[in-house]
Amino acid sequence: MRIRFREKTAFEAARCMESSGELHNPGQGWYHVYTFRAKPDGGRPVEEEAWLDESCRQEQLALVLILIGDYRACEIPKEALLHIGQILEFFRRNGKEMILRFVYDNEGKGMEREPLTVSMVKRHMEQIGGAIRPYMEDILVLQGIFVGNWGEMHGSKFLGRDSMCDLMNTLYRSTEGRCFLAVRTPAQWRTVADGSAEPGLEERLGLPVRFGNDANAAAWGEYKAGGGREDSFVMMTIGTGIGGGVILNGRLWDGVNGAAAEFGHMTIRYDGVPCTCGRTGCFEAYASATALIRQARERMAADRDTLLWKLCGEPDRVEARTVFEGAAAGDKACRALLDTYTTYLAEGTANIINLFQPAVLCVGGGVSRAGEALLAPLREKTARRIYSQNAKQNTQIILAQLDNDAGIIGAALLEP
Ligand SMILES: [Zn+2]
Repeated sequence: MRIRFREKTAFEAARCMESSGELHNPGQGWYHVYTFRAKPDGGRPVEEEAWLDESCRQEQLALVLILIGDYRACEIPKEALLHIGQILEFFRRNGKEMILRFVYDNEGKGMEREPLTVSMVKRHMEQIGGAIRPYMEDILVLQGIFVGNWGEMHGSKFLGRDSMCDLMNTLYRSTEGRCFLAVRTPAQWRTVADGSAEPGLEERLGLPVRFGNDANAAAWGEYKAGGGREDSFVMMTIGTGIGGGVILNGRLWDGVNGAAAEFGHMTIRYDGVPCTCGRTGCFEAYASATALIRQARERMAADRDTLLWKLCGEPDRVEARTVFEGAAAGDKACRALLDTYTTYLAEGTANIINLFQPAVLCVGGGVSRAGEALLAPLREKTARRIYSQNAKQNTQIILAQLDNDAGIIGAALLEP
């Protein structure tokens, strides 16, 4: 069935992006990101069917990203609120559970594009809360509190304790307390929990509450229950980004603000490609699964003969594992891609080892499923780069053992 909106729409659908297989939502498959950009002048009418790619039909999850930056200086007009309802209605009707995110910007310029006053953000939250309230059953989680760069992850002028609690409370109130809300870092959760936006979380849940970053928790899980019991232990997780965790003398080091071990955002190439954090040349912009996929797509565009075309049909369907598959089958282009990729990876890995000299460096995340095809070149290239290469003992690089469960196990084992 095709439905065409009769009037001009308030939002225009951007190209649907695929999160990769490396993201794996256990039991849920992976998901696509549907982006809708505000068009204050009225976008073109869109046929709904066009929103769902054939390959997305089986998915249970959809990340629906709605950009509201164009309304930063005014209230959100009635027709835009109506259109938001229609968009959610569409995903509901197609049986999707939604991760819903409203942001003023998705290009790393959120600090410039967010409203000037917190009261304007609050007004938008009240308006949007009202518009999405009927769909709460279909919304798995509301991600973020609209503001800042890439959601509130990389700074905003509204992340002080008072304004953050105020914003979270506004969002809870406007959805009548029915939304599950996720902010991006443990530091922010601590702010909120201490600041009474979620008073008595432990009592309400009847469970002890601990805060931890996902990759930190995964490192803790691997340390306590997986591959390494050495008291200096570093984990590096390679997925959409690159995260990690550091255990020193048997204790998880999470920094002064719960945000330690963001290995993905150390620069490995000055003036390199832009990163989601707003800087350039970051480790994860070259060595994450996302980066490998980008490199493979570029290669496909330049090379009609690579086996990648046979393996996945079109650049949009390429995954990190496809490159490993191609290399195993002897494809020259895939081997060259992996050679470059593992070199980038070794540059960052050597940096991490130079900093911490851990007894064990454990590699996890989706890309680590490639096993020895990844680890053998990584060990060899890292060994040539570390400062301490002639030492009697050096860091052992091993594969993670707990796969997707590392984070859950680690979180359950976190200490107060
Ligand atoms: Zn970065």
